[in-house]
This record gives sequence, C-alpha cells and structure tokens, in this order.
Amino acid sequence: MPAEATVAIIGRPNVGKSTLFNRLVGKKLALVDDTPGVTRDRRMGDAKLGDLRFRVIDTAGLEEADPASLEGRMRQQTENAIREADAIMFVIDARSGLTPLDKHFAEVVRRMERPVILVANKAEGRAAEPGLYEAFELGFGDPIPLSAEHGEGMSNLYDALREAIEDKAGFAAPAEADEAVTGVAVDEEGNVVGDDPVRPLRIAVVGRPNAGKSTLINRLIGEDRLLTGPEAGITRDSIAVDWSWREREVKLFDTAGLRRKARVQEKLEKLSVADALRAIKFAEVVVVLLDATIPFEKQDLQIVDLIVREGRALVIGLNKWDLVEDRAAKFKELREEADRLLPQVRGVQLVTLSGLAGQGLDKLMDACVRAYDLWNTRVSTGRLNRWLTGLLEHHPPPAVAGRRLKIRYMTQAKTRPPYFVLFGSRPEAMPESYMRYLVNGLRETFEMPGVPIRIQMRAGG
Ligand code: GDP
Ligand code: GDP
Repeated sequence: MPAEATVAIIGRPNVGKSTLFNRLVGKKLALVDDTPGVTRDRRMGDAKLGDLRFRVIDTAGLEEADPASLEGRMRQQTENAIREADAIMFVIDARSGLTPLDKHFAEVVRRMERPVILVANKAEGRAAEPGLYEAFELGFGDPIPLSAEHGEGMSNLYDALREAIEDKAGFAAPAEADEAVTGVAVDEEGNVVGDDPVRPLRIAVVGRPNAGKSTLINRLIGEDRLLTGPEAGITRDSIAVDWSWREREVKLFDTAGLRRKARVQEKLEKLSVADALRAIKFAEVVVVLLDATIPFEKQDLQIVDLIVREGRALVIGLNKWDLVEDRAAKFKELREEADRLLPQVRGVQLVTLSGLAGQGLDKLMDACVRAYDLWNTRVSTGRLNRWLTGLLEHHPPPAVAGRRLKIRYMTQAKTRPPYFVLFGSRPEAMPESYMRYLVNGLRETFEMPGVPIRIQMRAGG
C-alpha cells in the first residue's frame, strides 16, 4: 500500500527538525526540493517508523537566510508545508523551554487546523523536565518526549502518528519494518513491542553485604565470571555483564563480586552507598536482595529509598528462602512489613528465591520484566481526567485559609517512572498529604504496584 499521508515537521530553528527528519527517512534521502539554484526551503522524504510509511516534509534550512526577511519567509514557508500536510509534528526544544518564537510558530500552526503532534525534543536525561511542563501551555495536548539524536521515545511518537494519519498512511510488512533506523520494533500484527527494544534491559542487583548478590549473579549467568574480575586497584569499580534471558538482552550490573575482593583486603563490611548509587543510576530495574532470615534492616530501607529517589523500577528478592521454615506465614509477614515500611512503593513485587540452590530465578526475571513494563506505563489524558473528575467529587482537596484549592486538569508528562502534572490554583498551598493520596489513587486505579510515581502541581489549567 502506498504511503498517501504527508506529515510536516514544524518548529523554530535549532530544535532538531532535521535530526528528526533524518531519523525518520534514514540514509537514503529523497531530496525533492534540492534542485541547484532553487532556494532550499524544504526537504521531502519517505519516512519509516516501525511499519508506518508516510511522506515527511522538513522545513529546516532557513537559518542562513537574510535576517531582515527571515520571519516573513519562515511563516510563508511553514504555511506552504502545512497546506500540503495531513498532520503536523510541532517540535520544541525541551531543554531550553518555550521561547517567544515557539509561541509564534504555534499560532501559525493553530490557524491551519491540522492534527498536531507536539514533540518535545532533546528530552534525553533530566535536563528536559522544565521544558516538558511548559510545553503543555501550547494547548496541543501531551508533549511526546523524544530524543531525535538518540532515537528515544520513538514508540510514543509512533502511537501518536498512527492515530493521526491511520486512514492514509501505508503499512509495511512487519519484516520490512526497519527497527534499526527508528528504534521501533513491531510484531506479526504490526503492534509496536516495547519502548526502544533495541537496547538491552538494564538490571542491577544491590543489597547489604552477605545478602547473596554474588552467588545469585553467578547462578544467573551460569559461570564464575565475577570471580575472574580485575585485580586490586579498581576494586571499587563495578562491572556490567551482557547476558540474555529467554532471548531478551540483559545488561546485568554488579558491584558484589569485586567488592568481595575489597572486603578481603580492607575488611569492608559496611555497605558502600557510592557503589549502590552507581549501580542504581545505571539500571532501569533494581533488584534489592534481602536475606530473608534478617529482612528489612535499616540499610535495606535506605537502599530502597535511594532507588525511589532515582525513580527506578524495583523488585525485592527474598533470598535464602531455603533457610525459611514456615514459608506461608513468613511470606505473609514480609508482605505486610513491606507495605508498611515502604509506602512509596506500595505493592512492590516480592520474589522468594535461593541463589544458592538456583530456585526462583525465572520468577525473579519475570518480575523484573513486569516491573520494567509498569515503569513504562502511560495513561492517556482522557482516562486520567475522567478518574480525576470522579475523585474530586468525592474527595476534593481541603480548604486552606477558608478557600478551597482547585485542581482543574491532569496529564502524564513522562514515563520511566510515570510522572504526572496537575494544574490548578495555588499549588504551593496544596498539602503533601493530598498529593500522596493522589499518588496512591493513581497507583491503584491504573495498576502500577511498586512503581515510584511522581507528581507535581503547577498553577494554571
Ligand atoms: P533544526 O534547525 O530544527 O533542523 O535542528 P537540527 O536538526 O539542525 O538540530 C539542531 C541542533 O540540535 C544540532 O546541534 C543537533 O545535533 C541538536 N539535536 C537534535 N536533536 C537532538 C536531541 O535529541 N538531543 C540533543 N541533545 N540535541 C539534539
Ligand atoms: P554478597 O556479599 O551479597 O555478594 O553475598 P554472597 O553471594 O557472597 O553470599 C554471602 C553468603 O551467603 C555466602 O556464604 C553464600 O554461600 C550464602 N548464600 C548466598 N545465597 C544463599 C541462599 O540462597 N541460601 C543460603 N542458604 N545461603 C546463601
């Protein structure tokens, strides 16, 4: 089926339009308007995103124009591109936030009455968060955080584009869907599988000394690799092991094997917070390994706290389960203890295992994959606000100094971990307890047990 749909990439200079264009079109550019002598106002190309096929127009390349006539030309050229397009990708730079020029372009776009997909580019890493919130002000709905340069967030872009141009886009056979270019993989039915599935799942195992980390990791990767690590001198360094579990690529981060050497030399029995933190920063999913016979010590809780603060997906491994006698009663007790001591990650998965006996390893890996998926949860703005409306009817925020606090609107700004933004009046007055109440409600309603959900309130809406 030929690609009939055309999508224009619009935005002020330097937000990453060309980079996005190149990523969508791949190496073989079709330079329609690149005839010598003709001002290069725009490029067109055949775009691929997963199995979606469409034409894409890039409006970059005006930076070198005479500044005096720049604004008029940009407007003209933007309007021309939009006229040819069925949908618009409106790109902003999430790192620098909204500028007056962004708002100017947004006005032009708004008048043209096409479906708009708001792309917040350069969103890799944390530096992008302020820009993401500002992006809501444009009124184009949820911004899609993207890194055109690194190919991150492409599956969310896919979802949005597919919705916007479904009836006109072409669809390739899944086998042709070029995962390497776009970072989006599709299954036999053309559904996108996972976010950025090209990358291995990054897992770290952390815990107190003697919890059984080295034993577990050696058991998982099935060889004594950790014991053959580098010698003293870099004993505080950690290593990542490439490994695969049921055909899923996994990068396993370990500090244990090397610390063991350190321990011998320095009698280091204390948990190294720096080690744990490095592992946590590296990971998407962190397994906190507890010795089930002495669980939830102060240090264990501190480690969980670090993980929550870093916003990682979490699984708790109850190790040395082979030593536990009344298992049903013990598990019940630990479940209750976990939810009482760790309310920030209520419902966190507890997996019983024995690294020594090699029991429960598949269960542990299943839990990691599930935690990863939950961590990637995206709740649509529609569902969120339907839920919010009901909730506000029954449990509105309290009155402060005689005036009711208002919440008007809610949206999810980010995933990994899920990050929600509330809009309403006097955010500074909203009590912590009410925000916690909302987080717990979100976790329960949208089924995200154990996920360190984030929430922020902003004025407006
Ligand atoms: P255009 O003028 O809108 O077409 O922007 P370009 O595609 O030429 O990109 C402008 C600058 O932003 C270049 O230096 C790119 O390398 C950079 N850039 C593009 N995409 C990203 C991204 O996802 N992250 C970061 N950090 N930089 C990016
Ligand atoms: P690490 O300091 O967290 O890396 O812990 P190690 O892997 O060095 O294990 C500490 C001690 O606990 C060793 O004596 C292990 O043999 C023992 N151990 C590890 N896993 C298990 C387990 O599942 N069951 C039992 N009974 N002992 C274990």
